[in-house]
Amino acid sequence: MSSAREVYLVIGGSGFLGRNIVQGLLDRGDSLAVFDIVQRYDDVPFYSGDISDEVQVSQAIQKSGATCIIHTASPPHGIEDPALYWKVNVEGTKAVIAAAIANKVTKFVYTSSAGVVFNGEDLVDIDERLPFPDKPMDPYNESKAKAEELVLAANGSGGLLTVALRPSGIFGPGDRQAVEGIAKVLEEGKAHFQIGDNTNLFDWTYVGNVAYAHILAADKLVPPTPKKEAEIQEMLDFALPP
Ligand code: NAD
Repeated sequence: MSSAREVYLVIGGSGFLGRNIVQGLLDRGDSLAVFDIVQRYDDVPFYSGDISDEVQVSQAIQKSGATCIIHTASPPHGIEDPALYWKVNVEGTKAVIAAAIANKVTKFVYTSSAGVVFNGEDLVDIDERLPFPDKPMDPYNESKAKAEELVLAANGSGGLLTVALRPSGIFGPGDRQAVEGIAKVLEEGKAHFQIGDNTNLFDWTYVGNVAYAHILAADKLVPPTPKKEAEIQEMLDFALPP
């Protein structure tokens, strides 16, 4: 179901996941624009900028007429630059939230990461009630957790509705991290290590499905009515053990 009135601003829309979100929106005929530091489009309104600059984000929202932000921008996992993670993921997300509220954007979908609750120990049968670990896995996940916290805390501010999604590993066409990383391990002959007893599992999701989840999350971001709240509580009571 496409929303005829919505205008989407896909932040990080030049990236692996972002491009799939853009394609998903285009496929259903939605209006959208992209904001990124890297330009990869000639057929979609594009705004070049850095999310840590609130003015640049604000201008893109105003020019595009965005009503819904889908924020997927982040430096990639695995770089040795904690300050960059903090600047982009924490300060940048703060700037995007402020720009969204100032410009009366009504919906905000944030791409968090499953890693925000990972501390190196096995996680089995957990759900979103699991708190963040006392010691984050690394600066990337620490910054993603902080950004997620900021996004969820902004829910309801100035009419903005927010949601955060936590994908695990993402795979599919256009990926430049997972498969490349695995290939590099093989190339460098580092494949003789084994983590665990060979029964460890890790979740992977196809990029098209992660993109679709973001679009559905945006569709479902509507102000709760008392009836809806009761229905949600009923579902939670049914689905989650006490
Ligand atoms: P990607 O690197 O392909 O895309 C990220 C995009 O963000 C890039 O186009 C980049 O130019 C843009 N960007 C980076 N810094 C920016 C800034 N300061 N201002 C504006 N744009 C900026 O990464 P991806 O794999 O598509 O990941 C998308 C999101 O999903 C990220 O938030 C990442 O943390 C999250 N995530 C990814 C995975 C995965 O397996 N790839 C897993 C879990 C969560």
